[in-house]
Order: sequence, then structure tokens, then C-alpha cells
Amino acid sequence: MKVGVVGAGISGLSLVHALAKRDVDVTAFEARETPGGVVQSRRVGEHVLELGPQRLRLTPGLESIVDDLGLGNRLEFGDDDQPIYVYHDGELKVAPLSVREAVTTDLLGPLGKLRILLEPLTDPQQPDETVDDFLVRKFGQQAARRYLGPLYSGLYGTDPRDMLVEYSLGRVLEKAGIDGSVLLWVARKLREGRESPPMCTFEDGLGELTDGLYEAHADAISLGTPVEAIREREDGYELRTADGSEYVDDVVLTTPAPTCADLLAPIDADLEATLRRFNYNPIGMVFLESSFDGTGIGTLIPPGSDAQISGLTWNASFLDRDGIFTCYVDQLGYPALTEATDEELGKVGAAEFERITGAPATPIHVHRWEPGMPAYDRSWRATDDLALPDGVHLCTNFVDRPGIPGRIRSANRLADELAGEPTPAE
Ligand SMILES: Cc1cc2nc3c(=O)[nH]c(=O)nc-3n(C[C@H](O)[C@H](O)[C@H](O)COP(=O)(O)OP(=O)(O)OC[C@H]3O[C@@H](n4cnc5c(N)ncnc54)[C@H](O)[C@@H]3O)c2cc1C
Repeated sequence: MKVGVVGAGISGLSLVHALAKRDVDVTAFEARETPGGVVQSRRVGEHVLELGPQRLRLTPGLESIVDDLGLGNRLEFGDDDQPIYVYHDGELKVAPLSVREAVTTDLLGPLGKLRILLEPLTDPQQPDETVDDFLVRKFGQQAARRYLGPLYSGLYGTDPRDMLVEYSLGRVLEKAGIDGSVLLWVARKLREGRESPPMCTFEDGLGELTDGLYEAHADAISLGTPVEAIREREDGYELRTADGSEYVDDVVLTTPAPTCADLLAPIDADLEATLRRFNYNPIGMVFLESSFDGTGIGTLIPPGSDAQISGLTWNASFLDRDGIFTCYVDQLGYPALTEATDEELGKVGAAEFERITGAPATPIHVHRWEPGMPAYDRSWRATDDLALPDGVHLCTNFVDRPGIPGRIRSANRLADELAGEPTPAE
């Protein structure tokens, strides 16, 4: 049995790792000269910048890889106790994510806070309900629109009114085992003293993880080698690259939907058409240096706010990364994103940072992600029509959870399936 993997981002790399651990023969191709995909850490001057994800949760799946790679001594832990702020009515207000914050925050009025307590009496998700409708119905308008909606949708750059709960938040709740009241689930978790896994990164950034995975399996991964075509054969698949052909029994694509569509078009025209329906949102990242000394994890900026950026991560504070703040720009807040120059994006980021925090900032780097984040908007109805030929698999952030721990879980699950091993209960 031989498995071919297209892409060496965290999905492809953790799949190669998981298959190798199960003694399955695997070969992977990565288009770029560097592994990691969206996970990219850069040194600019003395600063470590994260061009993609800023930090991770040290879930058991991630911890096991860290142990396998001997990276435990490189881990750095973030301060989970710091607050997340919401930019509301021209001010920074604490998002109530703990009981103490719920009591003390002035983000919500007294009625807004009381309304949250009615959630256990509300009905479960309804067909065709949007994330916004669902959150407003369950928690009231204040909590839904001021922080719960933006907290969930911010990373995707999609308005919660355009996300169907069934294809987005509903799946997250289902995977977390929440089929009734969210509030009672949280209360149970608190009572049992169950804490979320700690937030972490590595001394030189998250790229240490993907570089470590690559180095451990370098003989099975060809960098700078895009898969140009996939062809079906009687007994498997042929992966064509500029270097020649690789013959495999099963093929796993880990790339964004448009690339999956290009590669699978010759095999199945209906599948190609389905894959082209998934929307993505481009994201601009502006890295700022500032002496702002606020304590926090970051700032949520709800859609419809007058700010042109969609959020901030305060790396300087919760990760102790000297003077560094990451600013996100999407097309909801800044429609000219794709036409703007890097200089313009830098200026927008710095100006909005100053308006929000009151402190000046200097842009030190700009990065763009295209196609960007899966939008998880109404186009995700396409999921219902995804039918893959035998031997073709998707291990991607548009069919399963996009966070790194979720990507590692998907890779482990698929490795079990390909190796014919039963998947342990999560
Ligand atoms: C700005 C941003 C911030 C994020 N923040 C967080 C966070 O804080 N925490 C978190 O857990 N998650 C975060 N995420 C989500 C997470 O980083 C991504 O979902 C995840 O890294 C995607 O990994 P992947 O391997 O599935 O895809 P990718 O990283 O996109 O990897 C796909 C790979 O395929 C390669 N490829 C493309 N075409 C071909 C081809 N023809 N042949 C061979 N290779 C090809 C690409 O070069 C790429 O390396 C963030 C995402 C973004 C964009």
C-alpha cells in the first residue's frame, strides 16, 4: 500500500508523520521550496513574526508530535489568563469569557448579561439558520453581535449573517459533544475543573513544528515539486510532477479547494464543479511594532464597526514577543484589500491600531494570504454534494476543522483509516 500526499502544510506533514508511524509507505509533494503551508514564521530584525497562525492549543495530538520530535524544550506558553477585548463604541471592552469577566465587563448592559442566562431554555439549531440568527436567539442580540459572533467568525473574514450554523458553528459544537445547552456544557466543564489545553508556541515560532516534521520525514517529502496532474489508473493513481510520475494506491489532497478542483478535474467533472463552489476570503496581515503596554490576548472588531481592520493579536503581551502586534485586514472591513499596496495596508493597520489602543505603531512587515481562509459561508452547502472517487481523500481545512489541532486530528483519523486501524474515540 502506497499513499501519495499533495501538499506539505500542517495537514500533509502530520499525515506523513502519522502514516510513517503506522508503517504505511507514503510520499508527499510540496509546491513551495519550504514546508509548512500557512504555518510560516519569519525573523524580521530581532522579532519573530507569524505570517499565519499566531499560537496553538497544546492538545494531546499536538503534544504527541512535540514528544516524537523532541521539541518539548522549545515550547513557550502564552498567558491564557489575559483578557480578549472588543472594540465597541470607540472603546476597548473586555469580552466576557469567564464568570469574573461576565460580572465585571461593561461590554454588555445588565439586561444583555441576564439574557445570556436564558440560553438553556432555547431550542437547538434550526435548519437554514445563520450563525447570527442562532447566537441572537440563544444568547440575545448584545452578546451575539458584540462578541460571540465576531469571536467565532473573525478568523474566516465572513459576516456571521452569511454563515449557516449547520455547516460551521454547529459542527464545532457537535465535535465538542454539545448537543443541548452551551451554557450548561460550560458550567459542567467549570464544575469538573476541565481546562482548555494551554496556549503555546515555540521559541522561534510555529515554523519549528512544521520544520521539525519535515526534517523527520525529509526522505518522503519533495519540496519545490508541485503536483501538476493526477490521473486515474486501473490499480490506483499517477501523480505527475516536473520530475516524473509517482504511482500510488491512494491519494490525499491537502490543498485549498480551487487547487483540489484543478487537480481532480480530469478524474471527475462533477467533483471539480462542486469544489469550485467553496468561497475563500483573502486576508492581509500587517505586523506592527509599538510600545503599547496593554495586557491582553487581542482585540475583536465586530463586522459593521467603523474600523477598517478585523482584529489584532497582542503578541507583545500574552506571548511576550517584544513590541509585536499582528493586525488582520479582510474585505469586510477594507474592501480594497486585494488592490491596495503593501504600503497602504501598513498605513491602514498602523492608523487603526493607534485609533483603537491610543498608541502609535510602525508597520514592519505585510503579508497576504490568497486564496486565504475558507469562508465557511453559505457556499459550504457544497459539502453535501462532495462525493470522492475510491482512493481519493481530502485532508483539508475546508472539509474539517481549520485550527492546527483539528488538522492534526483529521490527519490521525485518516492515517488510521488508510492503515486499517480502528480510530480511538476522541
Ligand atoms: C492568517 C491565519 C491565521 C490563523 N490562525 C490560526 C491560529 O491562531 N491557530 C490555529 O490553530 N489555526 C489558525 N489558522 C488556521 C490554520 O493555520 C490553517 O487552517 C492550517 O495551517 C492549514 O493547513 P493545511 O496544511 O491544511 O493547508 P495549507 O497550509 O494551505 O497547506 C497546503 C499546502 O499545499 C501546497 N500546494 C498547493 N498546491 C500544490 C500542488 N499542486 N502540489 C503540491 N503542493 C501544493 C501549498 O504550497 C501548501 O504548502 C490560521 C490561518 C490563517 C490563514
